Amino acid sequence: MNNIILNIQPLSALQLEQLHQYYELLITKAKIMNLTTITEEQEVYIKHFYDSLLVLKEESSLDGKTLLDLGSGAGLPGIVLKIAYPALKVTLLDATQKKCQFLQEVIDTLALKDITVICDRAEHFIKEKHETFDLVVARAVASLNILSELALGFVKKGGKFLAMKGASYQEELNSATSAITILGGKLTNKYQYELPLLMGTRCILEITKEKNTPHNYPRPYAKIKQKPL
Ligand code: SAH
Repeated sequence: MNNIILNIQPLSALQLEQLHQYYELLITKAKIMNLTTITEEQEVYIKHFYDSLLVLKEESSLDGKTLLDLGSGAGLPGIVLKIAYPALKVTLLDATQKKCQFLQEVIDTLALKDITVICDRAEHFIKEKHETFDLVVARAVASLNILSELALGFVKKGGKFLAMKGASYQEELNSATSAITILGGKLTNKYQYELPLLMGTRCILEITKEKNTPHNYPRPYAKIKQKPL
């Protein structure tokens, strides 16, 4: 399985071991905790780990940067990114208590440093963290118009929101254009990838924070859903 990962990212023996430990924890708890439906090893390595690494593939000089994984769930992509880039300062945010407990267990077992779990909703956590992260990433959390409102307020001016999307990203992008502008963002790149073994198409949407996000965003979740920007 390591070869699949080494094709995209150079990792040390320790990092590969940490990835494997994470895999073991994931599949042990997946069934009981409803963390992931994918448990076959090769599929986990490709659809979860390789996929997670794609989000920072085009980024350089990551050392010391702050990264928020919004809606981290079982730790994707945040745990994988912390393993691959130990010098990143990572915050994992999720609204579900049992997922946060799992994330803390992974951190403790793998002895990861400079990584924090926050059990909160983005709409609430923003009050403490308006424009404080260099990078915000999110996978499988919400459609892009809603997700942009949740995410862009956290990004520092000049920083980036990297949305992990699938093959149908263009439709999501079309309905998110006005939201992105209102929130101070601009689509600056999109990167399309194929997962190994024909396991799917992925697209990373790079949204750069050009202007400040007004403090009234994100609105309460019911309002965001009812009337997306
Ligand atoms: N990123 C993970 C999890 C996706 S499931 C993966 O790709 O596997 C979406 C997760 O986002 C859930 O765990 C849910 O609790 C969390 N979530 C959804 N809306 C949220 C919000 N507004 N604030 C914080 N977490 C949220």
